[in-house]
Amino acid sequence: MKQVVIIGGGITGLSAAYQLEKSARDAGKAVAVTLLESSGRLGGKIVTEKIGGLAVEGGPDSFLTLKPWALELCRELGIEKELVGTNPRGSALYVYTRGKLRAFPQGMSGTVPTKLWPFLCSGLITWPGKLRMARDLWIARGGQVDESLGDFIERRLGREALDVLVEPVLAGIYAGNAREMSLQSTFPELLELEKKYGSLIRGLRSQPPRANHLLPGTTAFMTFKNGMETLVEKITEKMPQTTLRLGQTVRRISRGQSPGQEFEVMSDNGAPLKADAVLLTSSAEAAAGMLAGLNGRLAELLQGIAYASTATVTLAFRREDILRPLNGFGFVVPRNENLA
Ligand SMILES: Cc1cc2nc3c(=O)[nH]c(=O)nc-3n(C[C@H](O)[C@H](O)[C@H](O)COP(=O)(O)OP(=O)(O)OC[C@H]3O[C@@H](n4cnc5c(N)ncnc54)[C@H](O)[C@@H]3O)c2cc1C
Repeated sequence: MKQVVIIGGGITGLSAAYQLEKSARDAGKAVAVTLLESSGRLGGKIVTEKIGGLAVEGGPDSFLTLKPWALELCRELGIEKELVGTNPRGSALYVYTRGKLRAFPQGMSGTVPTKLWPFLCSGLITWPGKLRMARDLWIARGGQVDESLGDFIERRLGREALDVLVEPVLAGIYAGNAREMSLQSTFPELLELEKKYGSLIRGLRSQPPRANHLLPGTTAFMTFKNGMETLVEKITEKMPQTTLRLGQTVRRISRGQSPGQEFEVMSDNGAPLKADAVLLTSSAEAAAGMLAGLNGRLAELLQGIAYASTATVTLAFRREDILRPLNGFGFVVPRNENLA
């Protein structure tokens, strides 16, 4: 029987184990799957705590339905009824800038305006900033192979657009610095628009209106009534054949000693595990340590991947203490407001 070892019990490791078990069952094949997790719990970054009757998320608070796989998984696991969407009246996104919350104007495609009037009326960007953004319509194309996202946005739309529109939204998605992110790896479609139309604004205005891809009863982001850990609990229940081992920190993966065994997986506790295939789902840094003896070059590349640290602070308010309508999705604060 083939032996597969999965390292890491976050959602990647768990869904891989679930899928392996299911595919083997469907194909009538036998596969022995062992999942090794260093901590004392499953879920990795997915952490839901119950505080005062509220589901408080320490990590992800929702998943995107436009990428359909998480929703499909929920259907397979039979937890569709547990799903909840976002408040349909709360679609506005705010930016805290120049002393107050200002809404993203309608007609923004990502961070590029495609409707003139709402953008001109909005106080989000100052008049000099708006005029600078308009220069995108006639400035020349860039020539570099891969510049940073920050340099690209500043070149096309100006510094204020970068600071107020792009950086804060990106910080929420990538927890990174736009000056250090590759444009080709993050938003290659913007580069294509520049190449094809010579302008982001012209390019986005030429795109056909986006069809509404949302399935009935879903919103763009979905979560579970009892929080994201529902997914972890339910998927774990549906992999009865997988051996789950907690408190097992893998230190080293090496070539198998005996013929027919590809790898040997060494963890802090327990005997070495033989494996025909190993699936690594830990951070790149942890993976680099495990692979150092097996493939030095790969370990070096993994070690070079930078990570940012983040903190989550959750505040809860009574509805009667909020005097304004709840019509917003949330707000972001540009770095240059110096409020952090
Ligand atoms: C604050 C925050 C908010 C987020 N919000 C969202 C969101 O709203 N929507 C969204 O889609 N995504 C969000 N993400 C991203 C999402 O949470 C992650 O992409 C996803 O959970 C990663 O899952 P994973 O299994 O790949 O990794 P992890 O969850 O990191 O799991 C890796 C596991 O490997 C284990 N491990 C590490 N080293 C070893 C070792 N040597 N031996 C054995 N085990 C080891 C770890 O203990 C961990 O359990 C957010 C992330 C964070 C941090």
